[in-house]
Amino acid sequence: MGKTMAINAGSSSLKFQLIDMPAETVIAKGLVERIGMEDSIFKLEWGTDSVFKLIQPILTHQAAVELVLQHLIEQEILSDIKEITGAGHRVVAGGELFKESALIDEQVIEQVASLAEFAPLHNAAEADVMRAFKRVLPDITMAAVFDTSFHTSMPEVNYLYSLPYEYYEKHKARKYGAHGTSHRYVGRRAAELLGKPFESLKIITCHLGNGASISAIKDGKCLDTSMGFTPLAGLTMGTRTGDIDASIIPFIMKKEGIQDIDAMVNIFNKQSGILGISGVSSDMRDVEQAAAEGHHRAQLALDIFVNRVQKYIGQYVAIMNGVDAIVFTAGIGENSKETREAVIEGISFFGCHIDPVKNDTRKEAIVSTDDSKVVVLNIPTNEEVEIAREVERLK
Ligand code: AMP
Repeated sequence: MGKTMAINAGSSSLKFQLIDMPAETVIAKGLVERIGMEDSIFKLEWGTDSVFKLIQPILTHQAAVELVLQHLIEQEILSDIKEITGAGHRVVAGGELFKESALIDEQVIEQVASLAEFAPLHNAAEADVMRAFKRVLPDITMAAVFDTSFHTSMPEVNYLYSLPYEYYEKHKARKYGAHGTSHRYVGRRAAELLGKPFESLKIITCHLGNGASISAIKDGKCLDTSMGFTPLAGLTMGTRTGDIDASIIPFIMKKEGIQDIDAMVNIFNKQSGILGISGVSSDMRDVEQAAAEGHHRAQLALDIFVNRVQKYIGQYVAIMNGVDAIVFTAGIGENSKETREAVIEGISFFGCHIDPVKNDTRKEAIVSTDDSKVVVLNIPTNEEVEIAREVERLK
């Protein structure tokens, strides 16, 4: 019982939700952006439509945390800071160290910071934010919830790259995956909706947002996932390449006169994917609109996006030797009935068909026909609730 903060810190941002547990109702949510700049933005939303917005210098994550807590009191969302009894921190990289969520102490904070080389933009900031919360709220239950921990059940055969083995031994160079909190949440929820034990099902979860990944879940455990050493691998994404042949890296660097490998990787992360192919936008809605107006490259970007999802589903059906359910989630997965339909109708060989009436939804629903052998579900993800649940579990 109590109010739990679910916190998602990035290099210059801090997102949070204050959730009443175990009811799982959101009391307030907000965002601090442009941390470290003179014109940082703080936005807080609560109740039916109350909104507070502030633009001022917020120079550190510590200052951001203090501002958020101060305004939860000032806006009378809380009468006392002690009403917060738990905090869950999303951590992007848990490496091989964290197979589960962990209660936060100084050692865990140092370990999270030490994994920063796997997620340079995130882990250092996440460690800072944990320290800031510890200073202000030293006695509450605080947990680190790792994007990677759900994927630590992957067997070697799926997480090892076909590189000299010593790179794994010496440097831990391997697949870690990402979006694990979301894959676990929607996978479990699918089992609940199907009324079957999570451990008895073969599920493919498609987290299709600006970042996109897909997981094969067998016996309640992640068997394989499409993101890799970093979130650059796998599906075509808003601005990320997904899988490419590594030989194209030196080729393009030479042709384009790019000297710096980091600049090249930055292009793969920020100027590629749907944006790079379409030349229109990284946002699926803009690309869908352009395609509907006859823009060839926008249509091509949509086709490639769907094609990559289908290929991964095919792989995962193969390595699981079957599939019981396919789940769509995140911005595109939840909202674009066209994408769900295009993906599923192209793989109907597996025994699944979309019901156009049921598929006309953005809510939690089975969207396949009654006679589909493989059930297709739309399940809005809720990483914040999953984080708050982990805090409750560790209390
Ligand atoms: P996320 O990263 O999960 O917030 O998802 C963001 C992506 O979802 C963006 O590409 C959006 O364009 C896409 N998205 C949101 N709503 C829709 C929609 N109604 N149709 C298609 N794509 C959508």
